[in-house]
Parts: sequence; structure tokens; C-alpha cells
Amino acid sequence: MQTDLHDAMRHIIDSSLVGEASAQEQQELRKHLLECAACQTYASDSRRAIVGLNGFSFAADPGLQAKVHAALDLRIQQLQAAQPNRQRIVQVSIAAILLTIVGSFAALHLGDPLATLLHLPVAQAQAGLFTFWIAPSWCLALLVPVLLLVSARSANRKGQII
Ligand SMILES: [Zn+2]
Repeated sequence: MQTDLHDAMRHIIDSSLVGEASAQEQQELRKHLLECAACQTYASDSRRAIVGLNGFSFAADPGLQAKVHAALDLRIQQLQAAQPNRQRIVQVSIAAILLTIVGSFAALHLGDPLATLLHLPVAQAQAGLFTFWIAPSWCLALLVPVLLLVSARSANRKGQII
């Protein structure tokens, strides 16, 4: 009878290690562990074994597998965060070039209507477009290759650490 109780408790220990023990089972287990040295030893040995095996994936233990996957996902996210977002830099570069093209087009074709709209001389409207649109977008377009170079260098440095 007593042996059956220990067996049952050890079964709960196994379940609790993969997060499958019910709250009631866990409460029973805690009560039992307070007064049973043998099951305490079993629990700590099992926990140590699980910690030692951490990082391996077991098809038989969906709970453990989920935990390993969560840890891997986190690691992938950390790696992605460590790498500069090259895709975003390329997107900014494309946007900057488009902005430059559209700005130049606007200066050529919209200088006149803009001047009329703002009651300004055409030259002044075009100068305004150049100062506030074309020049900044050109600067951005020129900045992007520099950013790419810097980010590639820092990625290499981080890659060495990893
Ligand atoms: Zn026991």
C-alpha cells in the first residue's frame, strides 16, 4: 500500500516535470515530499536529469518539445535583433531614390502650379522644392550606402562574438 503511494507520487513528479500535473496532484505531491525523503531524492534527481537534457527535443514529450521550441524561437529572435535590419535599409534606400526622382519631377513640372498656388515666383517655388525635397532625399539616398557599409561591419563583429 505504502509502495503504491510512492509510485503514484513518482508518477506525479514525472508529470509535473513536463507541466502535466494538475494543481491537486501538485498539492498532494508537495505534502508528500515534506515527509518522504526517498521521493524528495527522486524528485531532485529527475529535475537534475531534465536540466541536464535541456536543449534536446523529445517527440514523446510534447510539453518539453514546446519548451525547447520556445527557447529556439527566442534565440532566433535574439539573433535577428542582433543583426541590423538590412531589408529595412534597402527599403529606405529604394524609398529615398524614389523620393529623389519624384522630387525632381515635381520641381520640373510642379514648380509652376506651386508658384501659382503659393503666389511665389516660379524660381522661388522650384528653389523651395529643391531645398525641402530634392536635397534631403538626395542626402538620404547617399547616406544609405554608408549605413549599409557600417551595418555590414557591425554584423561581422557580432558574428565573431556569436
Ligand atoms: Zn514517497
